[in-house]
Parts: sequence; structure tokens; C-alpha cells
Amino acid sequence: MLKLENVDAKYDSFKALDNVSMTVGQGELVVLLGANGAGKTTLFNTISGLLKPSAGSVTLNGEDVTGRRPSALVQAGVVQCPEGRKLFPEMSVMKNLVLGAYVHRRDKAGIKKTLDHVLEMFPILEEKKNQAAGSLSGGQQQMVAIGRALMGRPKLLMLDEPSLGLAPLVVKQMFETIQTINREGTTVLLAEQNAFAALKIATRAYVIENGRLVMEGDRDTMLGNEAVRKAYIGA
Ligand code: ATP
Repeated sequence: MLKLENVDAKYDSFKALDNVSMTVGQGELVVLLGANGAGKTTLFNTISGLLKPSAGSVTLNGEDVTGRRPSALVQAGVVQCPEGRKLFPEMSVMKNLVLGAYVHRRDKAGIKKTLDHVLEMFPILEEKKNQAAGSLSGGQQQMVAIGRALMGRPKLLMLDEPSLGLAPLVVKQMFETIQTINREGTTVLLAEQNAFAALKIATRAYVIENGRLVMEGDRDTMLGNEAVRKAYIGA
């Protein structure tokens, strides 16, 4: 589905991504592990078109989409759920959710169907739909952020640190939800610091260090890898 070949990305002269090549197959749940500042968000922004690569190519379903605008990528099914959620806190939960469909969907009946599905997945959001998004708990706000992304009907959903700042029990539910979304057919690329929980639901994972992908493997290989355990799992 997604293929990056020899991608570089720069902030002025600082190379934040260095020769990154990776694939995400249809239906996979691929985890991107890396410390703070390793380049996870930069990689996501490069895929979603927010940042143009300075070298290399991004291919989506066989089509070269390198340098395309974010709106074109959303249209093609690439939807990013940003780190820190980036909700509109004064706006209602419902308005935040519907915004996810705004850029490219005009099919009213289809939008309503997706909304029903999102509210089924997150029943608490139905209860709180008229409240300001900023008044919700951290976990509930993350549900709004994921729900908003789902409203865009993603084929590839990119989740940037969805568990950040959430209580352990909420984190567990969050990973279960991500797994459900994937099992329902959405391909997922997940950047996480919470390596163990992320790897448990992953099909494959990559490790990024200083803008370079330094390791790749399937779930069991990564969970069993001593370097990965030492650096990211702490066991
Ligand atoms: P975190 O989880 O802390 O967000 P990350 O793995 O997502 O980390 P990035 O945010 O992609 O890392 O940052 C990669 C590198 O690029 C870091 O050294 C960071 O300081 C630098 N960087 C990120 N954004 C910018 C920017 N807008 N201008 C200049 N440098 C940046």
C-alpha cells in the first residue's frame, strides 16, 4: 500500500530523515519505535504531505505521490491523527468529529454512517457530543482525535503517540481500539513510545534513530530482540 524509497527530509540544513525506505502492506499494523526526537513525527508529516521530502519517493498503491499536497493525500485515504490530538477545544465533540470528513467528503449518508460507527466504537462520545472537546478527559479527547481521523474514512491511518499522557487503564483500552480499527480493515501506522503494548498488536515494526531506520522485523522478532527490549521495553 505505502512504499518509501530513500527518503530524506530536512529542516533547513538539518537532515531529520536520512535515506528512509519502508513499506506498509494492505491490512498491516506497522509500529514505528523511536526515542524523542528520533524523527517519527517528521516521517509521518512526510507521508501525509505536510513536509516535502528533499530526496526519495513516496508511493501509494503503486502511484507516485511524492510532494503532493496534504489534501490530495487525505483524498487518497492517508489520514494522520497528530501527536497531542490538536482538537478545537472550544468546539463541541460533534463538531470536532465532523471536521474529519470536511476536507474531502460530500456524501451525507456515508458521513452519517461513519459517524454512527464512530459513536458505536466510543459510546462515551455520544453522551458528551454537545460538550466542548476541551472539557473531556485526556482519554476521551484521544477518542475524539481518533474518531475525527476515522471520519475521513482512512485507508491508511497514521497515529502519532496516541497513548501519550494517558492513564495505564486508558492506554490499554486505546490499544484495544486501535487493534479493532485494524481488524475492521484499516491499515495502521502507529508511532509509539509505549513499545511493549504497541508491539503486542503489531504485525511488523521499524526502529528509527536519528532519522534513520536501523531495524525492522515482525512482531515476534522485535519482541524477542534484545536490543529492542533494552532500549524500548526496559526488560
Ligand atoms: P517526539 O516524539 O519527541 O515528537 P519524534 O521522533 O517525533 O519525537 P521529530 O519531531 O520528528 O521526532 O523530530 C526529529 C528531529 O527534527 C529532532 O531533532 C527535532 O528537534 C527536529 N525538528 C522537528 N521539527 C522541527 C522543525 N520544525 N524545525 C527544526 N527542527 C525540527
